[in-house]
Amino acid sequence: AQKRYADLRDLPAQDLSGQEVSLMMNAGLMADLPSLYGSGADGVGLFRTELQFLTRTRVPRRGELAALYARVMDAADGKPVVFRTLDIGSDKVVPYMKPQDEPNPAMGWRAIRVGLDKPGVLRMQLQALLRAGNGRPMSIMFPFIARPEEFYAARDILWRVRDREAQLGRTVPEELKIGAMLETPSLGFATDQFYADCDFISIGGNDLKQFFFAADRENERVRRRYDTLDSAFLTFLERIIARCAVSKTQLSFCGEDAGRPIEALTFAALGIRTLSMRPASIGPVKHLIRRANLNELRQVIQSARNEGQNLVRPAVTSYLAHL
Ligand code: PEP
Ligand code: MG
Repeated sequence: AQKRYADLRDLPAQDLSGQEVSLMMNAGLMADLPSLYGSGADGVGLFRTELQFLTRTRVPRRGELAALYARVMDAADGKPVVFRTLDIGSDKVVPYMKPQDEPNPAMGWRAIRVGLDKPGVLRMQLQALLRAGNGRPMSIMFPFIARPEEFYAARDILWRVRDREAQLGRTVPEELKIGAMLETPSLGFATDQFYADCDFISIGGNDLKQFFFAADRENERVRRRYDTLDSAFLTFLERIIARCAVSKTQLSFCGEDAGRPIEALTFAALGIRTLSMRPASIGPVKHLIRRANLNELRQVIQSARNEGQNLVRPAVTSYLAHL
């Protein structure tokens, strides 16, 4: 399939009306990086940092992490890489952490909640990231932010680590973008000030969807029960898009849906202009964007809802089928 889309690799993901969408890739291992070139991705929109913690019998050392992150940035060769700080706890059990007995681990002590309660590991990871950057522009985002205060607390930790590194004589990035992952509906209703304070927001659709519809993403019985192209979910996304537009906050979508062509085109039509996905999805998504007119698709979506369709999938599918 990659081969079929190879011709598109160096072409922009631009629709017929001239609007451009940035297609980035998700990664979590050094071995993922060669795909950056094979796929023609504009960068790494989500670098998940859990794997190095999950596959060890002890907390990885700062030096090893810094070396890995530096290699990732070297391989990206100036293309942006968005590093997400550790999203562990609960279901992603690390061998050296005391297992938590939680009835609902997905809603439990995980991600930034662990990072803020036990900031030692978070601080170490942030040091490793800044050292890896060695002055290069960097983007760092925090997972599972449910309230602005969590973002501010995490950002304070990062600023303090940066200032301390500078005091130690290390080169720190002049351009450090700090973002929040929007994975709980609550952030959609946060203050304007919060939106203005985020350099960027990345929608973690896998988690967001499970909390929006109250449907466990790990539970086979319910995980496919609710459609991303439900008008209610799209209305929620539009709210976020509009708010980011007002505060000029960069917005991206990095859940699995970003790599599903019908979903990806819908997000782009609604105004999400950065999508981060598995590398193999970039070709198919780009192929469709180049054949579509996002303004038209937006109208198709709006008309379907005006007619009372609560699911816009049939309308989008039929538009795309006729391209
Ligand atoms: C998400 O929740 O959509 C996401 C990108 O993060 P993860 O899948 O790692 O939870
Ligand atoms: Mg998530």
